[in-house]
Amino acid sequence: MVVVMQEGASDIQIQKVIDRLTELGFDVHRSTGASQTVLGAVGVRPDYDPREFELLEGVREVVRITQPYKLASRAFRSEGSIIDVGRGVKFGGSEVIVAAGPCSVESPAQIEAAAASVAASGAKILRGGAFKPRSSPYSFQGMGEKALMLLREAADRHNLLVISEVMDASQIQMMLPMVDVLQVGARNMQNYYLLRALGELSKPVLLKRGMSATIEELLLSAEYIMAGGNYNVILCERGIRTFETSTRNTLDIAAIPIVKKLSHLPIVADPSHGTGRRDKVAPMARASVAAGADGLLIEVHNDPEHALSDGAQSLFPNQFAQLMTELRIIAPAVGRRVA
Ligand code: PEP
Ligand code: MN
Repeated sequence: MVVVMQEGASDIQIQKVIDRLTELGFDVHRSTGASQTVLGAVGVRPDYDPREFELLEGVREVVRITQPYKLASRAFRSEGSIIDVGRGVKFGGSEVIVAAGPCSVESPAQIEAAAASVAASGAKILRGGAFKPRSSPYSFQGMGEKALMLLREAADRHNLLVISEVMDASQIQMMLPMVDVLQVGARNMQNYYLLRALGELSKPVLLKRGMSATIEELLLSAEYIMAGGNYNVILCERGIRTFETSTRNTLDIAAIPIVKKLSHLPIVADPSHGTGRRDKVAPMARASVAAGADGLLIEVHNDPEHALSDGAQSLFPNQFAQLMTELRIIAPAVGRRVA
């Protein structure tokens, strides 16, 4: 942390800041310029709130240098993590991994049709919600445990892995044998009790960015899982709330290279929730891969017009097939390959 004093700050004001920093255990390095003094404070506690110093008299600004997260930071593993989710499917390596399927599992026939079509187009993972976090309590809430069985069976028939959302720690044990990746939804990114419970597992977790979460908050949520010992965390940019109303959310594609710089964890993009509109999904999926995403999470439904959730943002199978063809051309341009 660096404390920049105002021009003309008095010696008494400067000394007060130094005393407070020392009291808190910081090692203080003072640089006295012609008109301004800068204090370098070494040994910042990760949970330290720099605002305390911003309020002291004579202080112009406080700049935090060390990251508040450690295990999730790039400094912890400079080479980048590769997360193996099973059957040789790895996030964070040279391959771009695509997970696709409906928003929700609705019936045996629906999930079978989705699994068959996304597998034929080259997806490696079948997605499908069993427990749905819907804005309205009157909307379809998911088929629960039964959905997980259908998902698993359909995935196994088509040599796919399974990803599904966990909404509560009480669901974890039941879900473990059914899924290969546990998804934490945007609404639960800051459910710290759930994150801690996931930290006790070794099962890979796909952690979605909250709709009003900063990148730093996303990485701090990843830190919760990692602090428990589970380093198998895949991040997901799924769009954030902004003032823009043309799309359901604003897919923050810049978050991809930013996360890549700050963290060693893989990051995927979800252009379905990121735009909320079927016609915008393919362009944003292409852009995400070009920006360095390690994978994609895409909603695909064989009859999206009758889907029980998120039909408007679900691709028709032929659109998904076309997108996969395009991604196979784009990925090599940025040194990747679609798995
Ligand atoms: C989903 O993947 O269907 C979902 C509910 O996503 P999010 O948590 O990003 O809204
Ligand atoms: Mn959805």
